[in-house]
Parts: sequence; C-alpha cells; structure tokens
Amino acid sequence: MAWELVNGTIVTGKDAIDRGTVQIDKEHITHVSKSARKAQDAMQIDVSGMLIFPGLINCHDHLLGTYVPRVGDRRPYMNWLEWDNDLKSAPQYAERQQIESSDLYQLGGFRHLLCGITRVQDHIPHFVRELFAKNMPIRIISDFAMAHSVTSYALKWGDGIEIEHAKAVEKKIPFITHCSEGFDEETLKSVSTLQSKNALSRQTVLVHGIAFSDKDIELLAENKCNVVWCPVSNLYMFEQTARVKELMDAGVNVCLGTDSPMSGSFSIFEEFRAAREFYRFAYGREIDDRLLVDMLTVNAARAMCLSDAGEIAEGKRADLLLIDGNTSNPWASLTHADYSDIMLVIADGVPKYGDVAFAPVFDAMKIPYQNLLVKGSRKIIAGDVLGLLGRVRSAVKFNKELDFLPIEAA
Ligand SMILES: [Zn+2]
Repeated sequence: MAWELVNGTIVTGKDAIDRGTVQIDKEHITHVSKSARKAQDAMQIDVSGMLIFPGLINCHDHLLGTYVPRVGDRRPYMNWLEWDNDLKSAPQYAERQQIESSDLYQLGGFRHLLCGITRVQDHIPHFVRELFAKNMPIRIISDFAMAHSVTSYALKWGDGIEIEHAKAVEKKIPFITHCSEGFDEETLKSVSTLQSKNALSRQTVLVHGIAFSDKDIELLAENKCNVVWCPVSNLYMFEQTARVKELMDAGVNVCLGTDSPMSGSFSIFEEFRAAREFYRFAYGREIDDRLLVDMLTVNAARAMCLSDAGEIAEGKRADLLLIDGNTSNPWASLTHADYSDIMLVIADGVPKYGDVAFAPVFDAMKIPYQNLLVKGSRKIIAGDVLGLLGRVRSAVKFNKELDFLPIEAA
C-alpha cells in the first residue's frame, strides 16, 4: 500500500523543502515534492509543523556491549586494551554475561530506535553478529570488511588487514577498523602501518583517530578515507578526541558513532551535546549543525557504501525520522533534540516508533505496538520492548535501570 506524509519540512540532504510530500510504497520512497500530489488510494498523513530527516546512520557500536554503567576506573587509558582489561574484570561485565546475547542486541536496537537511528554498524566479526542479530528493531549494516584494530595486540578479527581491504575494494564495501585509539608507540603509527599494507583508500573507514598527526590527516585526505568520530567514548576513556575540524578542513569524510554505552554515549542526543561542547572548547567557535547532521546521514551513507540511504529522494529506502522542531532551522532542531521531540521513526517503509498521536497510523497499518512513557512523553513502539526489559531484569535478578532505555510501561 502506498502512503504519504504531507505538509512536513523535508530535509533532503543539502536542502529543506517547506510543506512538502514524501510518498512511500513498500520499502521505498517513490516520490518527493513540494506540492501535495495525492497518489491514488494512498493514505495521507498530515505532519504539519514537523521536520522530516533521513533515518540516522550510526557508524560505530558494539551491540553486545549494550549495558551500563560505563567502565573506567583507571582513566585516562593508554589504549583500548587497558580499558578492555578493566571491562572484563568489572562487576557490570559479570552482570551483563547473565543476559542472552540476542537480548543485548535487542537492547542496542531499541536504544537507537528511540533516537531516530535506523541503521547501525556493529563492529564485530560477521559470524557473531549473524548468530544474534535477528529480528532487530532497526537494520544492522551487514556488508563490510574489517579488522579489529591496527596494532600487533589487535583481536584477530577478519582475515588480516591486506586481505580484508582488498575484499572491500573488490566488492565496493567499506573496510572498517579501529585506528589511533590511544597513545602507545604502535597506536601512534597506525596510519603508516595501514599505508604500508596498502589499506588506505576510499573504502577505508577509521574509527576514533584520537592520535592522528598532521601527516596522518594529510594521508587520509589524499586517499579519500573516512573517519568515524566518537566524541563521548573518546573523551571518557582518553580525555581526548579526534581533531575533527582539521579532518573536515582537509576534506576527510567524517561520520559520527556512539560506541557502546559501556564507554560511549547513551543516546545520539548526548553525542550531539558532547560534539558541540568539544568543538567550542577546542576551536573557540560553534560547530555547524548541518555538519553534525551530515555526519549521520550523507557522510555515513558514503562511508558505509550505502547507495540507498542518507537522503530523502525517489528510489531511496524509506528510512525516515520525523521530529518536532523549528522549521526555520531544521538542522539545529535535530542536533538539539531530545527523546520527547522524536515524533515518528520509519524503517524500511514501516512505522516502528513514535508519538502516541501516530497511534491511528499504526492501527491503520495493522502494526501491533506497546504504549510507553519515554522520559515522561507518551510514545508507542512496535515490538516487545517491555518483554525484553522483563527478561533482562529476571536474568540479572534485580530491577536493573538502563540509562540508554529510559522507558516505562504507560
Ligand atoms: Zn569500538
């Protein structure tokens, strides 16, 4: 069945269309225009005053790590391995181990859905993800080549940097690795190591990059590499983060990632706040809100080699985020949004989560939902998030609060 959203402010990528129409048929966007041109038999939904964005793409997470509180007794760390050792001996890690891995994946999916994220990159070997990431509330990016990181003490994920990067070039998929996450001698050489292994190209996606030198940034720009910025996680673990302005000024494609809540942010809203504060502190000026939105839309689609995402245009997948906000500056409205501002999230052409005002739409499309209070706002959600929360609480045998899932039954 075709349906359409009318009278919304559509942020198509670079521009915004005032009082426009987005038409959806099955999983795809079939038409975007300034006028309301009603398709035959299409259900029309008036979204006056709302802003319509492409569904957000989170370029870095570890879904198995969807748990709290954060680990970090010995901050700031020298590298990820020191943190990982603390993680493995932390009481919250032992607690987390009692929960089914598939439920940790579900928690990760719902945590992102509440923020308008419709796709996420889960950095883990494929065979692990394939075991647990089933029937997820949002899409998990599945086509990528990978390494864990670039040092000799990296986890043995994938077939090695040279082979994985070559696979990425051949299949036109991203080659993703943690890079320059720390300050030991080997970590500082990460970019030159990648260069010596012939692994710097437009397929290359480097996560973190907190120790990039000027020379590294030059090399990344020359080779058209992509960088995933994770400000909350970096500032928490290392009290430092990527030199994002220098990267963008050099022309490097920069995306945004939340990392897992065991080191990173609870929500993309928190990530926006940290990004803004860091930029103000480091550069003495405000970051352009459009740049932040681009990092989760067009830039992310480019880095992840997703030709069907990141923009609202005919033929793209119908992944959409509707928020309440100021139509004269939609970008700032999104980067200053919070849970209550999320009005509707559509993934693959299906409403997944939204304000209770959209209940008639869920009903008309026969989508079962649960009623929630999300930080005091009445929302509805497809899928059994309350059952999931119940399973998690019975697994750990107490009434665990999960800061990244601020929900209660309504
Ligand atoms: Zn990571």
